[in-house]
Amino acid sequence: MLLNPDYSMKKHNFCAGPSILPKEVIIQAAESILDINESGLSLLEISHRSKAFVDIMEEARSLVLELTKLNRKDYSVLFLQGGASTQFSMVPYNILSKKAAYLDTGSWSSKAIKEAKLFGEITEIASSKDSNYNYIPKNYTISEDCDYFHCTSNNTIYGTQIKEFQSSIIPVVCDMSSDIFSRQLDFSKFDLIYAGAQKNLGPAGTTVVIIKNSVLGNTSRNIPSMMDYQTHINKSSLYNTPPVFSVYVSLLNMRWLKSSGGIKKLEEINNKKATILYSEIDINPFFKGHAKEEDRSAMNVTFNLVNDDFKETFDSMLKDAGIIGINGHISIGGYRASMYNAMPIESVKTLVEVMSELENKL
Ligand SMILES: *Cc1c(COP(=O)(O)O)cnc(C)c1O
Repeated sequence: MLLNPDYSMKKHNFCAGPSILPKEVIIQAAESILDINESGLSLLEISHRSKAFVDIMEEARSLVLELTKLNRKDYSVLFLQGGASTQFSMVPYNILSKKAAYLDTGSWSSKAIKEAKLFGEITEIASSKDSNYNYIPKNYTISEDCDYFHCTSNNTIYGTQIKEFQSSIIPVVCDMSSDIFSRQLDFSKFDLIYAGAQKNLGPAGTTVVIIKNSVLGNTSRNIPSMMDYQTHINKSSLYNTPPVFSVYVSLLNMRWLKSSGGIKKLEEINNKKATILYSEIDINPFFKGHAKEEDRSAMNVTFNLVNDDFKETFDSMLKDAGIIGINGHISIGGYRASMYNAMPIESVKTLVEVMSELENKL
């Protein structure tokens, strides 16, 4: 071990993304930059075609399948670049022939819709825009004449989360950028899942894409090689130089997730953290939550001060407690506490203490 294992994170980091990673993952990542697998070389200076890196990519792809309980025969896993935002166009480029159905639950969904419109007809089957995206529309009909249905599992900015996915006979595409591996799901209900790593999976720089092979090959469109999922599948996600560091750190994080008890265990902890914070929001008269109770996200908790006159006081109390990254996104203001898998329960308790201290102080 090259680094001091007692090294500690000094802040309570509630950033929405890039965001918190487990301390041991950060230490191992730092070590890999100095020396990967005691090879005398940095991870940053070895070939992506070397055995060391090919093994890393393979283990990362396998762990995604293991965690999602999907089989290698039907599904392919890719680690791509360009962020989740590139998937907004890569998805329709590859699988939209004529028409697709989209659920609009926030800024990321609307961006996905905007891109998809370049490739075909888009039906927005439901939207919660009318009430500043504070809920998840339900009981909509997924038109059967569409090539696929697209939804966003967790709305990072507004703090809402789909709790139950409606069944669909057409393929389902899901942007899981901010809650992948945070809860148990029947992943086989999805035909294409994508997630930018920098929220719950790893550092910025790579996007995981999980594709059911059967959804490909149905459009007659010519697709540039780099935008074609099949290119990357054929080359086991090594068609061009992959973002080696991001893939490695994502692998470290998935190893950590597995050794911490897997998704099931993390889901329990995530629910506990969410309960602690939402309970405080509900009992503390100084705060109110943004999202409707039944649709509240366990990952991104959005709330406001009832009276903005207390903002300065509250902000300086947060600062004194070492809490950072909880300012709300510019589009809704207020506060947003992001509590991804790596967020310790102690940090959430510290935030709640500061919130109740505000109540006692005033
Ligand atoms: C952050 C985020 C994105 C955008 O990710 P980039 O990697 O920055 O392109 C897309 N969708 C959701 C749900 C997000 O939270």
